[in-house]
Amino acid sequence: MTASFEVVLEDTIGKLDFDPAELKAKYLAERDKRLRSDGNEQYVEVKGDFSNYVDDPYCEPQEREPVTDHVDVVVIGGGFGGLLMSGRLREAGFDDIRVIEKGGNFGGTWYWNRYPGAMCDVESYCYLPMLEELDYLPKHKYSFAPEIMEHTQNIARFYGLYEKALLQTSVTRMEWSDETSTWTVETDRGDKMTARVVAMANGPLNRPKLPGIPGIDTYTGKTFHTSRWDYDYTGGDNAGDLTGLADKRVAIIGTGATAVQCVPHLGASAKELFVIQRTPSSVDERNNRETPEDFADSLEPGWQQRRMDNFNALVSGGDQDEDLVSDGWTDIFRKLTGIAAKSASRKLGRRLTGAERAELMEMADYRKMSDVRNRAEDTVEDTATADKLKPWYRQFCKRPCFHDEYLPTFNRPNVHLVDTEGKGVDEITETGLVVNGEHIEVDCIIFATGFEVGTSYHRRAGYDIVGRDGELLSEKWANGLRTLHGLQTANFPNAFFLGFTQTAITVNVPHSLNEQAKHVAHILTEVRNRGGSKVEITPVAEQGWVDEMFAKARMGERFRAECTPGYYNNEGQTGNANGFFTGSYGGGPIKFFELLDAWRAAGEFEGCEFS
Ligand code: NDP
Repeated sequence: MTASFEVVLEDTIGKLDFDPAELKAKYLAERDKRLRSDGNEQYVEVKGDFSNYVDDPYCEPQEREPVTDHVDVVVIGGGFGGLLMSGRLREAGFDDIRVIEKGGNFGGTWYWNRYPGAMCDVESYCYLPMLEELDYLPKHKYSFAPEIMEHTQNIARFYGLYEKALLQTSVTRMEWSDETSTWTVETDRGDKMTARVVAMANGPLNRPKLPGIPGIDTYTGKTFHTSRWDYDYTGGDNAGDLTGLADKRVAIIGTGATAVQCVPHLGASAKELFVIQRTPSSVDERNNRETPEDFADSLEPGWQQRRMDNFNALVSGGDQDEDLVSDGWTDIFRKLTGIAAKSASRKLGRRLTGAERAELMEMADYRKMSDVRNRAEDTVEDTATADKLKPWYRQFCKRPCFHDEYLPTFNRPNVHLVDTEGKGVDEITETGLVVNGEHIEVDCIIFATGFEVGTSYHRRAGYDIVGRDGELLSEKWANGLRTLHGLQTANFPNAFFLGFTQTAITVNVPHSLNEQAKHVAHILTEVRNRGGSKVEITPVAEQGWVDEMFAKARMGERFRAECTPGYYNNEGQTGNANGFFTGSYGGGPIKFFELLDAWRAAGEFEGCEFS
């Protein structure tokens, strides 16, 4: 016997103990409070007087002679993207590879983000790439940053990448020559080398940003950004014990995924901690645990790819017979996406109408966020503080957070939540900050204010690229990205982009980078098999992908327009050609990976020209 939609709805999300219309109005009012006309312009770029915020605190500058040789492949970036690209090329028999990396070692985001408590919030057995290749199993279900950084360096060693790598080196310019069919790559260390192929894996969230708070340059106390943690000042390490803060009054600005991880350690160590909040994060349970001793016994060859595929399917709204990861991520996707709709339609005995599906998703979202708000209420003793920690927006408006110590930190007597009602800090003075009209004196201000999103590709990369006939990539992409599959752009032969340049965004970012790296290695193998040296894409193929991206782009736009501002919705302003989701294939990662698979399987290399 089948049930009515109302019964199925109640069966799926429980009895409605909230008024959906009231809740929606509340969400929109909270969004409106935070919308501001300057959008992305509210942030300060880390250049000029602020460039010291991106200095490397983790190693001393090493002198070396400029390099002027030729290599087959230059890979820019020594994070997961660059490592996967280099590793997959090595496996395909390309040996002459040089990684150029700004940091003092491999690691990318895990080189820079060493703040106390830093850890991956995606299950490590899926997140840490190449576990089978390196025969390694992470120590915990969610790895801490030092282990992840060590793993990136083990990958670099495994594929022999140290030998030719140029560390502490930033690319400043690249130019293609048709005469020699090579790229000339210049760096800030005076290097001027040539390469047949260049692959760019600069990272999507690589450039810290600062809030444009009046007076930010007048403060005389200690400041730093979370991605350049100053342990000389704070003492301690990733595991906490920040003894240097025992006599300090500390303010942390921002309550995103980073702050959620480091606030517990700051609260445990600082004399006084002021957590300056503009918008609360949604913080659900983490439940981290050590890897069971017998975990390895259950693993068959190919297990990591299967686990990644299973996770990716679930967090893309696809159904699976089993949930191998079974955590907060898969829970919210099971409840708030097509998986819930499918289950409802089974009970209903028919497909849901569009309106029914939207209603089910919205109600399930209200329920889920209501559970998250209840968690704050149940954990935080002071009712007023608990209320301020409740997020009033839909789950995917911001990156969901999972943490078991963040909320309890607000029960410490030395920790003060300073909620700004969505407005942020009024002013920074010589000795502290003004919030809600009140001055708070502090010894140290920590900026947990995130990374540039929505600015141009070349600004975030830190260099421009000159293609055939002097064409600048910054000009070509001035009105938006133009690629085939996000990986190549016409008139820039033998140049490949990895990341979110019209590819698919996944919760498990290294999964997407791996698919991209395999695809690029496949194309370069074909160049070699044909006895050639060059591959480029046709303008027609590029236009085809731009059209396909555009056709799918509307998915999610209305949802994001109703969201509280943040980098997911370009700070509440639609229509940015460089927005976070503008570079993402609207069909989702499963379709995107299938599309790449099918393109390779066809063997036609459609859109590519070899010579
Ligand atoms: P976010 O951009 O997520 O957060 C920035 C924070 O700063 C927000 O709370 C923002 O408030 C606040 N802020 C900005 N300007 C002001 C101001 N003027 N006054 C007060 N507050 C202000 O940066 P994060 O570094 O936290 O996270 C960035 C991303 O890094 C995450 O979304 C995630 O993708 C990734 N990450 C991943 C982790 C992992 O485990 N894999 C761990 C940590 C981060 P508002 O919300 O109002 O804009």
